[in-house]
Amino acid sequence: MVNRSLTKNEMPVQEPALRKRNFMEVALGYRPEQAVNEAERCLCCKNKPCVSECPVNIDIPAFVALIAEGEFEKAYEVISQYNSLPAICGRVCPQETQCEGKCVRGLKGEPVAIGRLERFVADHHNAHAAERAAAAPAEKKTSPSVAIIGSGPAGLACAGDLAKKGYGVTIFEALHVEGGVLSYGIPEFRLPKAIVQKEIQGLKNMGVEIARNTVIGKTLTVDDLMDNYGYKAVFIGSGAGLPRFMNIPGENLNGVYSANEYLTRINLMKAYTDQSATPVQRALRVAVIGGGNVAMDAARCAKRLGAEVSIVYRRTEKELPARVEEVEHAQEEDIQFSFLTNPLRINGDEKGWVKSITCEKMTLGEADESGRAKPVPMPGSEYDIEVDCVIMAIGTSPNPLIRNSTSGLETRRWGGIVADDNSGETSRKGVYAGGDAVTGAATVILAMGAGKRAAGAIDAYLSQGVTA
Ligand code: FAD
Ligand code: SF4
Repeated sequence: MVNRSLTKNEMPVQEPALRKRNFMEVALGYRPEQAVNEAERCLCCKNKPCVSECPVNIDIPAFVALIAEGEFEKAYEVISQYNSLPAICGRVCPQETQCEGKCVRGLKGEPVAIGRLERFVADHHNAHAAERAAAAPAEKKTSPSVAIIGSGPAGLACAGDLAKKGYGVTIFEALHVEGGVLSYGIPEFRLPKAIVQKEIQGLKNMGVEIARNTVIGKTLTVDDLMDNYGYKAVFIGSGAGLPRFMNIPGENLNGVYSANEYLTRINLMKAYTDQSATPVQRALRVAVIGGGNVAMDAARCAKRLGAEVSIVYRRTEKELPARVEEVEHAQEEDIQFSFLTNPLRINGDEKGWVKSITCEKMTLGEADESGRAKPVPMPGSEYDIEVDCVIMAIGTSPNPLIRNSTSGLETRRWGGIVADDNSGETSRKGVYAGGDAVTGAATVILAMGAGKRAAGAIDAYLSQGVTA
């Protein structure tokens, strides 16, 4: 029988007063009885509006119905036909603007908690994985082999699908840890790194090789991979990790970080532990500039390191691009928001360290080219905010290394690789691309979807007779 409740089952969470002092996961996941109760809210709609809004088209009513029947492992089997990283997507996907945004239960009340259910199923599967025999690796073809650049969600999804089809796959990763933003960007308290590593181990078990500390464009080039190392196809999933700055005075002062650097020090290098060789400033007052997920993550990390934190954003709460849940969690953790505020310059002390930022107040005007109301400065509204650390979280773009070192690769003016939406095909034969490297900073599931589509296209290309 359908559960008529208008609200989602609450997700148990760590209390804000406790969690703002530790890096452990905030959301704790459904218990089985909560998952079943939530799944019973689904109407199993015939036209499945939720499915068409999912970038990888998971058969949502099918897996939710199986949860309602207590068939958790069968539900996992349904999801894993479409999504190779469900424990990750269940935690970080912006469901409110995707599947849940179109759920008919949301017309009157809250939508079905599809993301929480996906997470439940994946966690249940992982918790019981030891009881099952490890999947036998696919029989590996000796050739042709495919090179994947970058081990973020785009590269991992592409590698997984190609390995399943029996291709020899090597991922080349610049960093010493795999996972891309999942490892170096999104904090432990939102996405435990053990989960990311478990998903990656699954790929390794399937025969995927990973060459870490290998920067394509420096250590090797795409041309080397194809001409000298025998790779018959290459997928570029190198992301968009180059931070942008505002180009205002004072950005070179000590105590100014890009969010990428700050988060990498904390998440990848574990700078919050005493054993870490990589330090991070233990600031007293931090201003984070920006309003997306990256800004929320940086602010919540700074809070956990003991700082008073404000997020400085030039529009209002309504326009914040971050996920609603992340904004709510940040607010519960006593992070302050300075809306309609624009930094003009960062001021330093005599030793070259940040001491304040000068900001101006803004008001919202006409919509700009992005369709959002344009912030307009209010004359005479300048004021100073005293801080000893500023974190810039205003966006990133693709690193130029690969485009500068690959012959015949067409790119856009802002640095994105030109690639076909459906196949990921680029202007260079045998070279495919997807994820943030093509779209600019986007989402995990969009990057995964692009990786999967490219894997299908690479298979079709190699099946046409490109041999070793
Ligand atoms: P990436 O994840 O960036 O991976 C690219 C990989 O390529 C990296 O490991 C990099 O080291 C490697 N690489 C780069 N250049 C080279 C080279 N020359 N040679 C070899 N390797 C190279 N999305 C969501 O859906 N939900 C969220 O909650 C969310 N939160 C986010 C929080 C933060 C802090 C950040 C930064 C992003 C967030 N995103 C979120 C966005 C999401 O993480 C990205 O859209 C997604 O990771 C893109 O995947 P990708 O595989 O294209 O690139
Ligand atoms: Fe279930 Fe909502 Fe999808 Fe309908 S739209 S099938 S109620 S999850």
